[in-house]
Amino acid sequence: MQKFFNPESVVMIGAPRNTGPGTYNGIETMLRYGYSGRLYPINPKADDICGLKAYPTVADVPEVADLALISVGRDHVIRSLEQCIQAGIRHVIIISQGFSDADGHGRELQDRIVRLSRASGVLVVGPNTMGVLNNFRSFSTGFIDLAIPAKVPPVSLIAQTGLIQVASQNFAYGTWGKAIDIGNACDVDFVDLLEYFGSDPETRIIVLHMEGVLRGRAFLEIASRITLNKPIIVLKTGRSRAGAKAALSHTGSLVGEDEVNDTAFHRAGIIRVRNNLEMVVAIRSLLRFGELAGPKLGVITATGAAGIMAIDAAEDFGLDIADLPPGLADKLKHGKPDWIHAGNPLDIWPLGMIGRTYRKIYHLALSELLKSDDVDAVLSIIPDFRSPLHPDTEVFDAVRDARKEAGNSKPLAMWVYMSNAATEERFEDVEGVACFASVDQAVQGLSYSRRYHKIRQRMIPSQRCFSYDRHLIADLLHKGREEKALLGEDALRFLDIFGIPIARGVVARTWEEIEKAAMSLDYPLVLKVSGRDFLHKSDWGGVATNIPDLKRLRQTFLSMTDHVRLHHPQARIEGYQLQEQAVGKELLLGLKRDPNFGFIIACGWGGIYTEVFKDISREIVPIGKREAENMLTSLKIYPILKGIRGETGVDLESMLEALERLSFLAMEIPDLVELDINPLMAGATGCKAVDARILW
Ligand code: ADP
Ligand code: MG
Repeated sequence: MQKFFNPESVVMIGAPRNTGPGTYNGIETMLRYGYSGRLYPINPKADDICGLKAYPTVADVPEVADLALISVGRDHVIRSLEQCIQAGIRHVIIISQGFSDADGHGRELQDRIVRLSRASGVLVVGPNTMGVLNNFRSFSTGFIDLAIPAKVPPVSLIAQTGLIQVASQNFAYGTWGKAIDIGNACDVDFVDLLEYFGSDPETRIIVLHMEGVLRGRAFLEIASRITLNKPIIVLKTGRSRAGAKAALSHTGSLVGEDEVNDTAFHRAGIIRVRNNLEMVVAIRSLLRFGELAGPKLGVITATGAAGIMAIDAAEDFGLDIADLPPGLADKLKHGKPDWIHAGNPLDIWPLGMIGRTYRKIYHLALSELLKSDDVDAVLSIIPDFRSPLHPDTEVFDAVRDARKEAGNSKPLAMWVYMSNAATEERFEDVEGVACFASVDQAVQGLSYSRRYHKIRQRMIPSQRCFSYDRHLIADLLHKGREEKALLGEDALRFLDIFGIPIARGVVARTWEEIEKAAMSLDYPLVLKVSGRDFLHKSDWGGVATNIPDLKRLRQTFLSMTDHVRLHHPQARIEGYQLQEQAVGKELLLGLKRDPNFGFIIACGWGGIYTEVFKDISREIVPIGKREAENMLTSLKIYPILKGIRGETGVDLESMLEALERLSFLAMEIPDLVELDINPLMAGATGCKAVDARILW
């Protein structure tokens, strides 16, 4: 990969003869950007381009270049690639467009590129790309003339567009260290580049722009490893496309593409941002602060109003306002009128203006907050008046000195209102200081660093193994695979074999069979119609609960049968399910296999309104008890499950075990597509599945 970013020699196939305004000549932009290696323009119709000797073909170049750039019409790309391969070049960037980004013919051409790349082992970036940017070596393959940055941060970008490397000031910390546009990603992809940046000493933070992910499982593995050492930030676009497709199961419709991505990013410790502004904030915070060890903020503000904004923002972003370190209030108020208040947020305006001690008060407060063990980060909200009438509010020296006195690099997030870039740069020369554009962004920035701390602390899930009777499962498994589904009693028995508790029940075809079955079960009972035609049985009037005795069972049987026959004459009743009634809260447990990331396990609010409330949490299989716990505690209904207002809660241990067992089931039966338990009746002394559907 290194050769893509730091080539000693480059051939450019399809270098235009014309240079200057409006020509988008890649040779010209590369030279202007400062490339200092050997550069060979290939153009049979030119003698020289930008003062460099031009060659008719790659074969005429006097050396085997480290890197080839191909920028010719799409129908000439294959031939150019073949010539590169023949010349022994191992790294190729195909800038040309019109492949899988365009039409059917483009897709065919791209397939041929892939075959050539695989057969020869030549690495191909693109097609349809701006290529790479390496600011540590003044190297840019893009045909846009970019300003040369003064400072280069160790932040690298992998994107599916050129936009983000070009518009770095809108997305990054000024600019990128390295950036690559993988374009259509026919060969070199996210996984390859994560591997490279993961061990690249010039990269401390990795940023991804992603439209779609391929090789999901490999992506998860490598990303999980990297995030223990370097933060990964992702901007995943195309969220709305993930809208709920018609699905056969509740889990299917509740776990759309975007939820799957979210779950996968979470598992891998990847921080997701929603837009370029959040990206800027996240990069800045992770770069300047790294991790934030605890949630407690000390706030120093030159205005009470912004202090209130800080409290709001802390709540929004999950951080706390610390207690003022003991003794500090007294020190600050010393010699001031009684009515002056010193708390956190600490409003320094009244404290500082009485007696004209603004700078001293700011310095003292900042230094003490940075030193205090009760404060994990400081938020400083100050003005930059830049007026000869207000020299006393200039606190740069105080920041620098307080940092020195504290002797640590505890995060100091600043919102310097009315400031300009020069002021901010000056503050950011001090270690552990970052300037943001608002109170909210400052607190949000800190929250990303807090997240990263938790990401680094996270544990690897440990899936428990359970024993089950492989002999018993064989017939059901066969039936499921043949018929592509197990429903009703079959599905419940399948779960039972894996140790997931179910309501006792029987299938029967006639009244006589029902009557006989009822003798082996305890009232109250539940009667349901069964058959492949009944997707949601209650929609058809096919579920009756609370049946107290045999007489009512008979009546229910007759009326249910009549009702279904009358209203839905086309639906075939294959039989009846007779079940013991379970009590508890109705929950949903499910599995869904994602083509990229494998199984997702879900749990949440169940019953017939589950799609309305959408209170669902998700994890990637496998999970251990800790992940199961997180799944339950992150639900909105968790307080209800725990017990609220004198109501007894549900047996959480049995829920956790059911989740662990379900995850185990997914590992054992990898060819399932979807599994739905809805509802799982969760009661005070255990839980029971009463309805399930398993799809192959
Ligand atoms: P479907 O989802 O096909 O309509 P279910 O078997 O899930 O059918 O039943 C619908 C509803 O009936 C459940 O959400 C639950 O409220 C109730 N129910 C079904 N079976 C039982 C049972 N054994 N114990 C208690 N309630 C039940
Ligand atoms: Mg159901």
